[in-house]
Amino acid sequence: MKPLHNARHATEAHLIRGYLESQGITVLVRGEFLAGGVGELPADLCKVWVVDDCEFARADALLRYFLQGTAAREHAHEGWRCEPCDENMEGQFTSCWKCGSVRPV
Ligand SMILES: [Zn+2]
Repeated sequence: MKPLHNARHATEAHLIRGYLESQGITVLVRGEFLAGGVGELPADLCKVWVVDDCEFARADALLRYFLQGTAAREHAHEGWRCEPCDENMEGQFTSCWKCGSVRPV
């Protein structure tokens, strides 16, 4: 098992996990329980791990691609709509201020 990414917060870690799992790679998110709270966590406490070392190179390449896309979206200022609660968001929000859902990919 190898550490792939230090997430800025648990939401990012789970977003990455969901993406990599959708690509058939088994990953774990470790450390979110240590901080004992919701919201911003120290970066070194929330890591994404690739379970199978054989999948690490592919996971790393996919993550780079994924983060590039995420960064591009973060710079886009067009608004979006939160699916679960039907709330309209401004472009600078990457998750819903009302229900906490992450901006759809
Ligand atoms: Zn919402």
